[in-house]
Amino acid sequence: MADKKWVYTFEEGRADMKDQLGGKGANLAEMTNIGLPVPPGIIITTEACNQFYLEGKQFPPGLEDQVREYIKILEEKTGKRFGDPANPLLVSVRSGAPISMPGMMDTVLNLGLNDDTVEGLAAAANDRRFAMDCYRRFLNMFGDVVLGIEHVKFERILETQKDQAGVKFDNQLTAGQWQVVVEEYKKLIERETGRPFPQDPMEQLFKAIYAVFNSWNTDRAIVYRKVNKIPDDLGTAVNIQVMAFGNLGNDCGTGVAFTRNPSTGANELYGEYLINAQGEDVVAGIRTPQPIATLKEEMPGVYQQFVETCRLLEKHYRNMQDIEFTIERGKLFILQTRNGKRTAQAAIKIAVDMVNEGLITREEAVMRVEAAQLDHLLHRRIDPNVKLEVIARGLPASPGAASGKVVFEADEAEKMGQEGHKVIMVRTETTPDDIHGIVQAQGILTSRGGMTSHAAVVARGMGKPCVCGCEAIRIDYDKEEFSVNGLIIKKGDIISIDGGTGQVILGEVPMIDPELSVEFQQLLEWADEIRTLGVRANADTPADAAKAREFGAEGIGLTRTEHMFMAQDRLPIVQQMILAGTDEERNAVLEKLLPMQEEDFYGILKAMEGLPVTIRLLDPPLHEFLPNAEELMVEITRLRLTSGDPGELQRQEELLKKVRALSEFNPMLGHRGCRLGITFPAVYAMQARAIFRAVARLVREGYTVIPEVEIPLVIEVNELAFLRRVVEQEADKVMQETGVEFEYTVGTMIEVPRAALLADEIAGEADFFSFGTNDLTQTTLGFSRDDAEGKFLQEYVQKKILPDNPFMVLDRKGVGKLMETAVRLGRSVNPDMLIGICGEHGGEPSSIEFCHLVGLNYVSCSPFRVPVARLAAAQAKVKNG
Ligand code: PEP
Ligand code: MG
Repeated sequence: MADKKWVYTFEEGRADMKDQLGGKGANLAEMTNIGLPVPPGIIITTEACNQFYLEGKQFPPGLEDQVREYIKILEEKTGKRFGDPANPLLVSVRSGAPISMPGMMDTVLNLGLNDDTVEGLAAAANDRRFAMDCYRRFLNMFGDVVLGIEHVKFERILETQKDQAGVKFDNQLTAGQWQVVVEEYKKLIERETGRPFPQDPMEQLFKAIYAVFNSWNTDRAIVYRKVNKIPDDLGTAVNIQVMAFGNLGNDCGTGVAFTRNPSTGANELYGEYLINAQGEDVVAGIRTPQPIATLKEEMPGVYQQFVETCRLLEKHYRNMQDIEFTIERGKLFILQTRNGKRTAQAAIKIAVDMVNEGLITREEAVMRVEAAQLDHLLHRRIDPNVKLEVIARGLPASPGAASGKVVFEADEAEKMGQEGHKVIMVRTETTPDDIHGIVQAQGILTSRGGMTSHAAVVARGMGKPCVCGCEAIRIDYDKEEFSVNGLIIKKGDIISIDGGTGQVILGEVPMIDPELSVEFQQLLEWADEIRTLGVRANADTPADAAKAREFGAEGIGLTRTEHMFMAQDRLPIVQQMILAGTDEERNAVLEKLLPMQEEDFYGILKAMEGLPVTIRLLDPPLHEFLPNAEELMVEITRLRLTSGDPGELQRQEELLKKVRALSEFNPMLGHRGCRLGITFPAVYAMQARAIFRAVARLVREGYTVIPEVEIPLVIEVNELAFLRRVVEQEADKVMQETGVEFEYTVGTMIEVPRAALLADEIAGEADFFSFGTNDLTQTTLGFSRDDAEGKFLQEYVQKKILPDNPFMVLDRKGVGKLMETAVRLGRSVNPDMLIGICGEHGGEPSSIEFCHLVGLNYVSCSPFRVPVARLAAAQAKVKNG
């Protein structure tokens, strides 16, 4: 049986042969075939690598013969020969897996040099110093990368030689001195390996190929694959390419360039190069490279050719390219090209520009920008023109920036936040017990913990800035201060944090609001043309509603009315309502809340005029509006000890009794949501009345408003039927009182499995459904988010028990199945049923795709994620039709 074909010339390969030839090899083949000036080369396939392992680390049969045969092809093409002292062929050897994989074998350059061929190179370059320099580099790389001799051992020899020569820099050594280094390197290799350095180029080559195959299974490569979920059986290809020299003189050079600016996206060549240098000199940073624009003056012909090559490459790959090039004696060679990495801002600009240039379609443009990457373009940022007093630096754990007073305790953060102060909560680490403080803080700073610590995860979920693991700060909770580099920051002092860079800054700094660039808006408009899924926002205030609208929200999918109850001027009244002993007392208090709620709804409905607004009636358990029991006990003890006001003491004792009576073992599963509505219908009636009074006023003022009244946490159609009547009665009353006719709908959230399973029954009483996937995830998985994220979820994800945090990425398999069921059952009763999602998943790209797939009408997310959702919805459509 004939041996398998293990080796290909660049001409024999194609871009779509990545699996066989590796990413780098397939690309080199493609470039060769579109006529780019690529130095000739051959590729050993990934299959050969896999076979090598199957044979117990032996070259597969036929491989060596094929390599010899293909090297002959290179010799014919170049007119040079392997090992020919007069005109030696020199090659580079590189690894190249199907997926780009740092951690694999480094490049070996100048393979083929030996004691004879180095003279040939000296003659060809007419520069013995240069040839010796190449030889010593090769010995070092080969010794280090292929033979596994520590790099420092080579360094030491070089340092000694420089000392002896009395010079400081490598380039001050003469040919003779380099030759001494070469001799010493050869001795080192013989000492370390027990064999002389292999002079035969073929032997060098096979050793290098062996080393590349071997590097597929080094520890660092294995770890990298594990972290990035790359299969272990892909194998790596080996690229063997004729050397192009960038260091034969001042008409030579080497560089790296992007076809467009990778940070702004501007359509200009961006990159740098070094005259008379080899690839590693650019990366090593020993000499400062020059900007690519200077090439225009230094070598106009080459520059022109380079510009044309870039154009050709962009046209061919239809994407921005990151190119490595070498100039040998005034001739341009392209060594590598790949799609260039870019910032979110650049990704947007390049995508839009390429549509305008006719290079790609709008659909392709929409797919070119990673939706999750948009995040940091949509947060408040520190004004870049301001000089900052940076006092420390931690991990950039959650983007955005904030200024505020330093506080150390969650309770304090909550209290001050509620009083309208801006605070930054500073802790060594946070735990689920700190949630109430995080909610009220502008940002979080911790001295310990990484990018997946509790603080980081929770802050990202809430879209709040967070700097984590800022080890330079030392917190002293007793003294209520932290120190950093000799500076003492006390409670109440103002600091700023930038969760995008990890900077901690002294004092308040000016911020700029996120703005959508012209290109960003253009891309989102195209996304809107493509997508079929609607995008709404979750907003509780007219300001948030206006922001959401500006970002392109097509309505409000959730207004959480409890946030309105928490405001400072409301809380005492809400507490009175809860503490009311009789219905009359309660109704009297509700009368006070009514006009306040009416103003809330008036503001939001007006801001969203012409668009639907879902207003959810009260959801959380009542004790959330009362002070906590420990604090009350402290206060009562104080009053007793100081024999304070007896009336006040009695009031506090009453309050404590009520707090105790309302306390629950598991509030998440307790007396909340529509259960409050069933037991205190007057509260829901007041809210409904406030909504309809606002609606009637707006209608009379000539506004079009589309109110959707929503009942939370329903498990049973009877709950909805009962509460629907409460709402309808209020609507009828308001219409009668005002003489204004208006439209409204009543619907429910689906956030408990029972509701999803009985969605057909519930649909009989609901005009719309909205999936509350925060609660639906908790109730389906049976654990609370705060406990899970703080205690075990991270480990679940690490150990791959769950693929992702189900509170961030929708659990399609479980929660998703319930959603699918509810959609099917709901629409079996009402085929046109409006169905949306308003849990946090509504702003997460993969969850949005799922919502598209199961046929929801819209997703709803926080205002700053609306652009992300618009793009992700369009991507879901392009991908799935
Ligand atoms: C939900 O449960 O998904 C929801 C939106 O409601 P909340 O987060 O207010 O409980
Ligand atoms: Mg909920």
